[in-house]
Amino acid sequence: MTDKPLDYAIVGAGISGLAVAWFLRRCQYSVRVFEASAQVGGTLQSRLCDGFLVEQGPNSTLENTDALGALIQGVGLAGKLQVANPAGKRRYILRDHALTPLPLSATGFLMTPLFSARGKLRLCAEPFIGRASAEESVAAFVRRRLGSEFLDWAIDPFISGVYAGDPERLSVRAATAKVYALEAQYGSLIGGMVRRVLQGRRTGPAPTGRMIAFAGGMQTFARGVADALGPEGVRTGAQVISLAYGSRDLWGLRFAETEEVQARRVVLCVSAGGAAELLAPLAPEAASALCAIPYPAVASVALGFRREQVRHPLDGFGFLVPRRCGVETLGALFSSTLFPDRAPLGHVLLTAFLGGARHAGVAALSEAEIERRVLRDLTPILGITGTPVMRSVTVWPRAIPQYELGHLERIAVIDRALAGLPGLYTRANWRDGISVADCVRNGREFAGAL
Ligand SMILES: Cc1cc2nc3c(=O)[nH]c(=O)nc-3n(C[C@H](O)[C@H](O)[C@H](O)COP(=O)(O)OP(=O)(O)OC[C@H]3O[C@@H](n4cnc5c(N)ncnc54)[C@H](O)[C@@H]3O)c2cc1C
Repeated sequence: MTDKPLDYAIVGAGISGLAVAWFLRRCQYSVRVFEASAQVGGTLQSRLCDGFLVEQGPNSTLENTDALGALIQGVGLAGKLQVANPAGKRRYILRDHALTPLPLSATGFLMTPLFSARGKLRLCAEPFIGRASAEESVAAFVRRRLGSEFLDWAIDPFISGVYAGDPERLSVRAATAKVYALEAQYGSLIGGMVRRVLQGRRTGPAPTGRMIAFAGGMQTFARGVADALGPEGVRTGAQVISLAYGSRDLWGLRFAETEEVQARRVVLCVSAGGAAELLAPLAPEAASALCAIPYPAVASVALGFRREQVRHPLDGFGFLVPRRCGVETLGALFSSTLFPDRAPLGHVLLTAFLGGARHAGVAALSEAEIERRVLRDLTPILGITGTPVMRSVTVWPRAIPQYELGHLERIAVIDRALAGLPGLYTRANWRDGISVADCVRNGREFAGAL
């Protein structure tokens, strides 16, 4: 047993755990992160494959919080930061077998073939629609405020791009909190956005809003934070198998192989299922609420081609597939357009996604079958000829937590149950946001709230 208890033991070295640890360390607490696997990063996994830089999890994140910049600067990673090619602002949507750019301006919106004249006119009614009286799904909210066309051709593909989720099941309040807040605060999405822009002009710029990644891939970020925490700050190969609250108001963390560690406080930064296992003996109500959070499987498929094998100019972020197209692949990123050094000279890298809430069962497919289905879908859309020169399939059996209807009640149940266990906290992507940037912001807020 370690003789001096830690101020904080963090369970899980995904980006949530690493961020919590770093911001706590900055407040002068003694902190150590315990990670079950042999490497840090959790979902942030990057690897070199025949000269292509393959992201198995997130490819980038949106810098929509200044906590991200603070962490990147603080751990000395500014020199490794990559900002997405400005062409990445163009995002395509599949409609009628062709890729159509999402409009970026009012004129673009008026001209786009993505929505009919009726669908565009329907938006004019938005400022006059009242607030909802009960919790709504994302689909019900968008249908009510913006109309069905907007749901089908803009929001549905967006939700599948971020959550690999089903807008009919996700809670608008939990999954798209910023959009919900516009209605709650201003009574209108359009009116609220205009007011926010005007307020932004008065109060100065917000976080950069840039799409960012790192030289060497997103795993560089996780490794950089772990390096800054130092060898005493992170233990890999250390799966916490149980927690016990014992004498002197200390928590004991037990491991399969190594001796027990004591800490004044513990932060669980693991998946909902992982947290449920540890909490089942201590707070069964919290464990059942955690088990009710669905996690559909997603396959991330990286495909490398010689440039001349792909007819499409790949001049954008990538494309998303609305459910109504009846195409199984959820969408694809033009990875080598977005960031440098993703593909060898004269080659391109695409990263496609299959599965999610829309197509359950991807985890049961072989890698060859997943690749076959993705190529079947991508070939006519992008004008691909021949076979890929590089392929890499990663299946995440429990990929992304779904903030479905009732999610916020589930989180409240968890928090109430944990309030009876002093010094035990949770911070992970199943609460308060799923993006890498959200996880970092939550880490800073956690440390800041102490
Ligand atoms: C395919 C895919 C693509 C994505 N794309 C994007 C994107 O483009 N942009 C974006 O911003 N976000 C993206 N995300 C979401 C984002 O990557 C995740 O939400 C985020 O990385 C989750 O971080 P986390 O630390 O909360 O959890 P995790 O990354 O799951 O980390 C949890 C860690 O806890 C460890 N652990 C579990 N149990 C124990 C235990 N008992 N003891 C010790 N350690 C334990 C695990 O091994 C793991 O390392 C994507 C996610 C997926 C799956």
